[in-house]
Amino acid sequence: MSSSMTTMEDPSGSSIRRVVLHFSDGESRTIEVAEGQEILAAAKARGVNLASQCTVGTCATCISQLLVGDAQPKPDVVTVLTSEEASRGQRLLCQTLAHSDAEFDMGYPSSLLLANPPVFFNAKIGRITRLAESVAEIEVKVPKTMRLKFTAGQYCRIRVPGTDDWRSYSMASGEHEPNKLTFLIRILPKGTMSDYLRDRAKAGDVLEMEGPLGSFVLEPTQRPHLLVAGGTGLAPMLSMIDRLRLLRPAPPIQLVFGCVKEADLFHLDELRARASFTPTLQVRISLEQDSTIPGVLKGNPVTVLSRTDAPEGTIAYLCGPPGMIAAAEQAMAGFGLSLSDVRSEQFLPS
Ligand SMILES: Cc1cc2nc3c(=O)[nH]c(=O)nc-3n(C[C@H](O)[C@H](O)[C@H](O)COP(=O)(O)OP(=O)(O)OC[C@H]3O[C@@H](n4cnc5c(N)ncnc54)[C@H](O)[C@@H]3O)c2cc1C
Repeated sequence: MSSSMTTMEDPSGSSIRRVVLHFSDGESRTIEVAEGQEILAAAKARGVNLASQCTVGTCATCISQLLVGDAQPKPDVVTVLTSEEASRGQRLLCQTLAHSDAEFDMGYPSSLLLANPPVFFNAKIGRITRLAESVAEIEVKVPKTMRLKFTAGQYCRIRVPGTDDWRSYSMASGEHEPNKLTFLIRILPKGTMSDYLRDRAKAGDVLEMEGPLGSFVLEPTQRPHLLVAGGTGLAPMLSMIDRLRLLRPAPPIQLVFGCVKEADLFHLDELRARASFTPTLQVRISLEQDSTIPGVLKGNPVTVLSRTDAPEGTIAYLCGPPGMIAAAEQAMAGFGLSLSDVRSEQFLPS
């Protein structure tokens, strides 16, 4: 990484760096980054939406490879990037400052993020199904005139009817059916969306929505896929499986899905059906509490993982509550996967 110090200045006298972002589909974007400004923040301010989530250095969604220039992590900030990864030139753009002009390999195609800009729309609930004690499935009909497009793994924000509160939910349905979206929603004992779904929601209700959002997106490849889901974190995995099974040949897919207890389990038939028409899909179910269901493993979806679940070349997608994601990321590192081969979505509380 050569360091070419540039001294372009803005009118206030501070240095401006030119940072070129190269995407894997050959596209590139050049952004100007002010002194002391994080590269991710600079990109956002200039309308370039990059893969990101937590923006505080803990999720690694914005990891990129420095190709040219001097761009360093902010001093005194602790992130999940190891010193070994940093010395190889990997950077978390949310916590990186450009000290010279620089170039980055983003590692994903620009089309994943730039192709489907989010829009606001209204959609009607078609069906609400209680799948388990703590899980509801809602099917939402999007007007055909909308031409909504999304990538498996993305989510929508939904305004809870009768309130000003918005909540985020990942699409469980496939990219091929953008006008009939399905969401899997955990019903908490008390919560704005949970109360609405339990007490008032009915077919025909109109929902205000925004989407598609998020950079936890499937990049379909023939590499082995390890999908690890906790509870309703199964939602984006179903959408991803529906996309992956269309690849010829379909890649090996290992899905590990865990819940706390039998009463929380859902979609076992759905998973069986997918495994029967996707021969490369293997499904493992785990429960933290004892279970009488044949074949169910004891533990959470991370403790039941082993090194053999991540053969050479594996790409891992993790989705669920923050604690599970942290444990799964640690497990992936232990299996030798690099941060850039691990994508995760945390269901952070609103
Ligand atoms: C990008 C993204 C995608 C998401 N996708 C999904 C999805 O597909 N399915 C899904 O079920 N959820 C998903 N979530 C979480 C979801 O957006 C809501 O936070 C969740 O449904 C709770 O909403 P609520 O209105 O019922 O409860 P709230 O009114 O938000 O919270 C009520 C109380 O419960 C607590 N609480 C909130 N969440 C949790 C939790 N997970 N565990 C324990 N306590 C909690 C809150 O701190 C608060 O005290 C996603 C979140 C993000 C950020």
